[in-house]
Amino acid sequence: MLHLPKRIATIGSHSALQILKGAKDEGFETICICEKKRVKPYKMFPVADEIIEVDSFKDFLKIEKELIKRDAIVIPHGSFVEYLGVEKIKKLKVDHYGTKKILDWESDRGKQQKWLTSAKIKMPQIFKRPEEITKPVIVKFHGARGGRGYFLANSPEEFYKKIAQHPCERDYVIQEYVVGVPIYVHYFYSRLNDELEIMGFDKRYESNADSIGRVAAADQITANIQTSYTIVGNIPLVVRESMLPYFIKIGERVVAESQRMEAPGLFGPFCLEGIVTQDLILTVFEISARIVAGTNPYTNGSPYTCLRYNEPMSTGRRIARDIKQAIERNQLEKVLG
Ligand code: ADP
Repeated sequence: MLHLPKRIATIGSHSALQILKGAKDEGFETICICEKKRVKPYKMFPVADEIIEVDSFKDFLKIEKELIKRDAIVIPHGSFVEYLGVEKIKKLKVDHYGTKKILDWESDRGKQQKWLTSAKIKMPQIFKRPEEITKPVIVKFHGARGGRGYFLANSPEEFYKKIAQHPCERDYVIQEYVVGVPIYVHYFYSRLNDELEIMGFDKRYESNADSIGRVAAADQITANIQTSYTIVGNIPLVVRESMLPYFIKIGERVVAESQRMEAPGLFGPFCLEGIVTQDLILTVFEISARIVAGTNPYTNGSPYTCLRYNEPMSTGRRIARDIKQAIERNQLEKVLG
């Protein structure tokens, strides 16, 4: 028999402010697990009822018992997965929002590709060997590191020249460089009402990719500027209304395919990350099976959630509402995993 959890917990990074604010708005008590050196924002913005300080996020397991004692449900976000790692998360005993089964699909590039292509989502071409490079490619190192270190290459020669600057990197993917505009689509799917919602869209503000246009091409060559994609922030976005049916359709296909591949499938917030080309097709280079930092501009709701809810509804709050409704209906197992 499941107990009724009264607290929402997450680690202090990524989208924690939004998650904790949303949980408080829904009436939960909140806990923020913070690294000592990064505690200030969580004191400045009073969204955590309690702050548990640790020397390092790697110490998370040491406080797990404490969280269980406090009836906490942990909300995972991108940094949570990065700091703990998939294997440790799978072994967590504390209640965890969202299914852990999908973590394998998400972290394994081959599985992710199978999932998305089965859902008929267009993806960039992958070059298995550098010798196969015949068009512009983007080389990405493994793990969500906010785009750091990614580089572009046009030929095998250029690839080898640039990879030499990363002697320790063994795990990378060589992807076709897709020309278009980057778009991140924020979705929410609840198992309680079997409905998909569009929560919003964002684009990223990346250094130096987003400032290269301020320098003339000739000057870029003179200054030997290399494009980099280190994420600095997120910029809110609305899409052409006529594209909404398309974004809804592909979101539904991704959920349906996840249910086919591994029950109960994906639920809660997720994000398709890609490039919209001039034919208005989204080429998806990644799926995040949890809340993304691109939802942070919408702490007070997005232009889309405002159409559906008569109150400020962030993705963080939507998660808390999902949990609250599950508790009320005695179906908590439907939101945990
Ligand atoms: P991370 O996983 O570190 O968050 P992403 O995979 O999201 O990084 O990519 C970071 C940035 O690199 C994107 O915002 C986009 O601008 C660019 N990018 C990634 N993949 C491609 C691609 N296949 N074609 C063109 N640009 C890409």
